Amino acid sequence: DMEVAIKVVVVGNGAVGKSSMIQRYCKGVFTKDYKKTIGVDFLERQIVVNDEEVRLMLWDTAGQEEFDAITKAYYRGAQACVFVFSTTDRDSFQAIDSWREKVEAEVGDIPTVLVQNKIDLLEETVIKNEEAEALAKRLKLRFYRASVKEDLNVTEVFKYLAEKYLQR
Ligand code: GDP
Ligand code: MG
Repeated sequence: DMEVAIKVVVVGNGAVGKSSMIQRYCKGVFTKDYKKTIGVDFLERQIVVNDEEVRLMLWDTAGQEEFDAITKAYYRGAQACVFVFSTTDRDSFQAIDSWREKVEAEVGDIPTVLVQNKIDLLEETVIKNEEAEALAKRLKLRFYRASVKEDLNVTEVFKYLAEKYLQR
């Protein structure tokens, strides 16, 4: 069998939990003070989907998102994408549209998912459920509420993307 390898880009504003998500999914850990990027371009994890071995390569940014300077090299060849916003950061929610435009301009139409992270902080939420659902509906994206901290729905996000990719 030929192994399938998928480059996944994880995009969204700074501090929404992208690096934490990648680290959680690929290394199984959550570190509260995890700051800088991992020091490599990506981390990977192998899973089995429909009897097929899939290698997911999760690309992290080095925090350039704060300077709106993510390079073309980051997006190049991306085959799937995760858009992330945070339960406690309204700007990160409002920025999803522009992230979507950016990714579409760089790589076109690829399997994509929308994630509301930090759902463990729901009592501090600044986003109504209806708003998040309306956004997902408008952008025609599968929507997950997740907590990287509590390890809630993280594996589901990537399993969904792998399945979507294999269905092409
Ligand atoms: P990035 O800038 O998008 O890569 O975000 P980071 O992964 O660096 O995370 C920013 C901060 O949010 C860190 O302090 C993380 O520990 C924290 N964080 C990430 N995910 C969660 C989560 O699900 N719940 C909570 N409460 N904090 C989180
Ligand atoms: Mg980061």
